[in-house]
Amino acid sequence: MSTSIPKIVVLGAGYAGLTTAKRLTKQLTAEQAEIVLVNKHNYHYETTWLHEVAAGTINPNQARVMISDVVSPNRVRLVYDSVVKINKDEKRVVLENSEIEYDYLVVALGFESNDFGIKGMAEHAFAIEDIDSSRLISEHIEYQFAKYNNEENVSEESLNILVGGAGFTGIEFVGELAQKVPELCKKYDIDRSKVRIINVEAAPSILPMFDKELVDYAKKSLEDRGVELKIGAAISEATSEGFIVGDDKELIKAGTIVWTGGVKASSVLGESGFELVKGKVNVNSDLRPEGVEDMFVIGDCSWVWNKEADRPYPSTAQLAMQEADVVAANLKALITNQPVEEFVFSDKGTVASLGHSDGIGNVMSGYKLSGKSAAAMKKVVDNRSLFLLGGAKLVLKKGKFRPF
Ligand code: FAD
Ligand code: NAD
Repeated sequence: MSTSIPKIVVLGAGYAGLTTAKRLTKQLTAEQAEIVLVNKHNYHYETTWLHEVAAGTINPNQARVMISDVVSPNRVRLVYDSVVKINKDEKRVVLENSEIEYDYLVVALGFESNDFGIKGMAEHAFAIEDIDSSRLISEHIEYQFAKYNNEENVSEESLNILVGGAGFTGIEFVGELAQKVPELCKKYDIDRSKVRIINVEAAPSILPMFDKELVDYAKKSLEDRGVELKIGAAISEATSEGFIVGDDKELIKAGTIVWTGGVKASSVLGESGFELVKGKVNVNSDLRPEGVEDMFVIGDCSWVWNKEADRPYPSTAQLAMQEADVVAANLKALITNQPVEEFVFSDKGTVASLGHSDGIGNVMSGYKLSGKSAAAMKKVVDNRSLFLLGGAKLVLKKGKFRPF
């Protein structure tokens, strides 16, 4: 070890990294370990709220939390810098502006949009990845509306919003758009019928993790509010005009095109020579990659095997925060020469919002919710995540209390 006190470096202050750092401050004294948290910005953001930032239904600042409000800079050294590369052999992390050595590393750098190499996607489509990319989408949409009655030769399609992929992110985003578009129409004197919200999905259904009854509810809710769902139609290319879709290569035109077709681990992992399986690192049930003693990879950077279902757990904030608890306990175990524990996921259920006042969900081992009760549950879940990070004070400062 580099010093007499082991140095734990946590990369990323999302749900996984920030929770790990916070739990470590409770598990280990300053004499037992030095803790360093590295993050691109001086704030954490609620990734689970980014579709709302992207649609412009919440202010980006509501989704941002200063890291120093959650972990004390007196206990955790906070480094605001971007990770460029992890050098496992030298136990060193290269940052944009410096380098940092570690005894133990927690990699929690989150996700990036995965366009699966679809032609033109990276150049022409927006993606919901962080605060800046999400705010850019809402500002771009509003600019299309502001331009419409003020410039000559504006095409009819410029008001269209085209979303590629109807998984959770795509559906939650179009749900927010269904709420926001009427507000924008009113603000800019535009007839609602001039604006199309189109969500294209390659699979035969939207949200395949929900049963037919809930999927039908979600489809009806969205379609009743003017969302067009184009199901069973794969996007093969993105152009400056829109998406090329389906076997007949139809070009659907739009002034705003957004890709929500999937995610992969931060590209830092691939660039650092980690072995990736479907875009992420496989970890054992102690949350370390096979054969690696000094490093944990958690949150959206890794896959953890669900033995019962014989497939990996889907990446969620819920999973990331539970993994963080086990990583903090396992780091303490390593430092105090105790056996490490196995991660066991406790599923609290899943809720998808369909705008501010509607949603669907499965909670408490299969209990189904839809409508306002699901929307209310989603707000409870959102506030709970704030509570787990920063207690009641953070919930009061950033929580969601707006009535329906
Ligand atoms: P992230 O939350 O992505 O955090 C990664 C952190 O690392 C960020 O702070 C980032 O700034 C930082 N970082 C990234 N790269 C670098 C770098 N190179 N250098 C330094 N810092 C870096 N899950 C649920 O359970 N419930 C939901 O309702 C839900 N809704 C979602 C809605 C949307 C729109 C999206 C996109 C996802 C949603 N998810 C939801 C999934 C959930 O948000 C992710 O699984 C979760 O954010 C993963 O946490 P993480 O800590 O691994 O990564
Ligand atoms: P996803 O992989 O879950 O969904 C992507 C969708 O895009 C899929 O339905 C896929 O069939 C479709 N798609 C892929 N390629 C396509 C193509 N060429 N043409 C048309 N459609 C295509 O990705 P996501 O929705 O971004 O979610 C990422 C992760 O975040 C998941 O693990 C999810 O569970 C989690 N998440 C959870 C919530 C929640 O719990 N409320 C909300 C958002 C995200």
